[in-house]
Amino acid sequence: MTEPIRTCIGCRKKATKWELVRLVRHESGHVSVDESRKSPGRGAYVCPNLQCIRLALTPKKLNKVLRINVTHKEIETLKQVLLNLLQCLEVRRDEKAKC
Ligand SMILES: [Zn+2]
Repeated sequence: MTEPIRTCIGCRKKATKWELVRLVRHESGHVSVDESRKSPGRGAYVCPNLQCIRLALTPKKLNKVLRINVTHKEIETLKQVLLNLLQCLEVRRDEKAKC
């Protein structure tokens, strides 16, 4: 079985979509983190690490990849969600804790 390959918009590394976190632009133009990786809409992928999140979450990158005009406020919100997600991933690695 071949896995779909996606590119991290932070470091440009290629990985399967399950190794990356998906951001999705909804029809409304709103951007959110797509934990299911199934939401309809234009998607962008980023590695689940701090460095890539920082590189990826800039208005320049997101606007280009998702063809939108994100506000700084939206970017801050996305960053928060992604950072929470990262913490959860780390917790899950050592413990059985659920976020
Ligand atoms: Zn990356």
